[in-house]
This record gives sequence, C-alpha cells and structure tokens, in this order.
Amino acid sequence: MRLTGESCLVVGAGEVALRKVRLLRAAGARLTLVAPQCHAELRALFEAGELDWREREFSESDIAGQRLIIAATGDRTVNARVSRAAQVQGIPVNVVDDPELSSFITPAIVDRSPLVIAVSSGGNVPVLARLVRARLESMIPAGFGHLARFAGSFRDKVKARFPEVGARRQFWEAVLEGPLADDVIGGNEERARVAMEQALENGVGPDSGCVYLVGAGPGNPDLLTFRALRLMQQADVVLYDNLVAPSLLELVRRDAERIYVGKERNNHALPQEAINALLARLALSGKRVLRLKGGDPFTFGRGGEEIETLVEQSIPFEVVPGITSASGAAAYAGIPLTHRDHAQSVTFVTGHRKDGSIALDWPALVRPGQTVVIYMGVSTARELCAAFIAHGKPATTPAAVVEWATCETQRTVVGTLADLSDKISEFGIHSPALIIVGEVVQLADKLAWYRRVESHT
Ligand code: SAH
Repeated sequence: MRLTGESCLVVGAGEVALRKVRLLRAAGARLTLVAPQCHAELRALFEAGELDWREREFSESDIAGQRLIIAATGDRTVNARVSRAAQVQGIPVNVVDDPELSSFITPAIVDRSPLVIAVSSGGNVPVLARLVRARLESMIPAGFGHLARFAGSFRDKVKARFPEVGARRQFWEAVLEGPLADDVIGGNEERARVAMEQALENGVGPDSGCVYLVGAGPGNPDLLTFRALRLMQQADVVLYDNLVAPSLLELVRRDAERIYVGKERNNHALPQEAINALLARLALSGKRVLRLKGGDPFTFGRGGEEIETLVEQSIPFEVVPGITSASGAAAYAGIPLTHRDHAQSVTFVTGHRKDGSIALDWPALVRPGQTVVIYMGVSTARELCAAFIAHGKPATTPAAVVEWATCETQRTVVGTLADLSDKISEFGIHSPALIIVGEVVQLADKLAWYRRVESHT
C-alpha cells in the first residue's frame, strides 16, 4: 500500500504503538496518535512536529479521513470499537496481536528496500514468523537493497537490448548470480557499472573471473562471516589447505571443483609461487576462485603475497576477513588477551623457524604487562619457552597451549614457561595449536566455558 503522504491513525501510544509508528513513518505516512498518555519517544516526535497527538481517549470521530488505522491500546474493548468504526467506513484496520479484529495483518519483514520479504503466520504464531525472519536476515546480505536498486537502474537498457523475454531472463540470471552482483553487494558499484555496460555491449552475461581470498575462521562453522558463507556457496573452484576444517569445506557449493594445495609444515603440497600462479590462471579462465584460508587471511596467512600476483595481472579480487585463531582460542579457552589487571597489550608472533632460527624481538616480548600469542609454535615450543626465560621472563609465568581452538576437539593445556613443553609432549598436542604466554592465562581455570582445561600430569 502506498502510504507516502497519506493520513494514518494509531490508537494507543505505548511501546507497541511506537513500533508501528516507526514502520509507518518509514513508509512516509502522515501520522496522528490518539491516547491520553504518550511514550517519551513518541512525545519527542510530537514536539518535533513529526506527528499529531490527540491527548485523550479514542472517539469514533477520529476515524474520519484516515487511509489506514492501527489499534495498539492493549484494551480489547477500545480496540474492538476502533476496529468496528474503521470497518464500517471501509478503512483497513490492524489490531495488534488480534487477527480476529483486524482486516489486515502486519507481517514480519526483511527489509532490503526496494526488496522486501514479508513473513506471516496468518496471525497464528507471530513468534514463528519472527524466527523465519531471523533466518532470512542472516541469509540475505545487507547489500541486496543496493543490488535491487542497481538492477532497477539498468532495467530499461536491458529491456531495449534484449527484447526477447528468454534472452533477457538469461542475461539477468548471469548478472545477478555473477561477480558483478557481488561487487554491488560488497559496495564496489563503480566497478560493477563498468562491467554492466560492457556486458550489455557484448550481449553476453558478464563472466570475468575473480579471486576471493576468504578467512574461514578458526574451524567452527558458526564463526564464519555471512560474506564468507555466501562466497563459499557461489564459487566455481576452491583452493584450500590443512587449516580449513572438513566441516567448513562441506559448506562450499557442492559442484565446485576442490583443489588441495596443502601446506603441512616442511611438506608444502604446492610451493607458494605455484599457488599464486594457479589462482591467477583459474581467474583468467573466467572462474570465480575461492581461496579459503584458516583464520584471517592477513594474519600469518600469506594473504598479501597471494594477492600481489593478482594485482600485477589486474585480476579483480576481494579479501574477506576471518576470526583469527588467537581470537578464537582466547574466547573459547577463557583467556582474555588483554585485561586491565594483567595485560595492557597483546602481541602476535610466529614461532616458525626461518633459516634454522627463531628470529623474534625477545627484549620486547619479555616485558611485563603483555600477552604474547605464538602461532605455528608447537614444534618449537621447547626452544621458545627457554628463550623467554633466558631473556628474563620468570619461569613461573603462566603459559597455555590451545589445540584446535573453537572446534569440538579443542584441548587446552595450562602450565608455566618452565613446564609447558613437557606438557605438550605429555598430552600429545599437535598443530594446529597456539601458545599463549602471560598472566591472563591464569584466568582460564575460572573463565573456560567450552571445554575442560588440562594442567596436571
Ligand atoms: N591465518 C591463520 C593463521 C595461519 S598460521 C589465522 O589467522 O589464524 C597457522 C597457525 O595458526 C597454526 O600453526 C596454529 O598456530 C594457528 N591456528 C590456526 N587454526 C587454529 C586453531 N583452530 N586452533 C589453534 N591454533 C590454530
């Protein structure tokens, strides 16, 4: 119903009325409230001249001249009077949570204007409609509104270019399911416009390849971003390695080609240069390539190196951040990385050997009042702990290792710099695991909520 500039009446002015007022205002209606008392927020709107307020009980005469009426008084007798008066005049009326008295109902909506999805249970179980709505909210990217408007702005041009319905539909399908649409949703409308003009000129669906460098988080599928999940479900081909948990890989589009590019330490299934080149080659052949990374692609993920090749060859790409394993381990093991009493800063380092030694800034790392998180440090744990102590960190400093953080198989082992490496052997901890050093580790005993914390032999 087009309500722009139309008079609408809301009877009642409490919390529920406020919700309806928000919706009607968004639709551009001219609003009148009838109620002896008024919610503070509604009063503010009234004082700002945004709506009219008749400060009294409802009277049948209020109905005159209204285009739509909502009764939200919470008093069934009053609501019934409003309903009757409105229906006698043939004016649509909704009584909140009372389908019997309503001539129309207000569905739960997913608003991606101009795209709007309404979910209704016919007034039977509004909570269920709201649950369905919540699911749709998470499935449909926020940028769908942009996409709808973008497509709308090309409607006439496309119609002129493809007068035949079948060809037109094919064109739109290619556009709306392609990388161009992702550009629009992701906010890169400029590039999408250029691609769209080009596609219109060539008369084919745009099919230029691209690369999505996507962080898949520490392993628990619930920790994926909406954007990551969406791109996973659209990819033509996926490049992944050991750090990507199998449960995540299952979420990739079924008929996408999967390429394992390895990266077990010291046993690279494919050298980095070969991965870079493969990404470029696949994209140049017109594929939508998903490079799925554990954690965050820009945190010890070589994400920078992988996209450098793409930049050199002007291949379009996008980077999607993920929850880095340090954040995942911290949250799921109950070890806050900073804490007002224990740590004012946190440092992420790699324990990986380069040219035979671990090159870290030890004097900086042993300073008090900080947390150090070590990626790729399980196999060098003994050396690392010894180096901390040798550079002056007390041997009693709490230290933990978190294996397969956030996953069902997560294990946390807590000790000190003096005994952590023994415990790593004792419990058989293997990669992927993080080492966390600092006073905050003590908190795990109290704050761990996900899996047990092990500490003793
Ligand atoms: N880009 C990734 C890190 C890649 S380096 C990220 O942002 O998390 C690989 C190291 O990450 C592993 O050696 C391990 O130290 C750590 N790691 C990755 N996933 C992990 C997990 N689920 N649990 C513990 N450590 C993990």
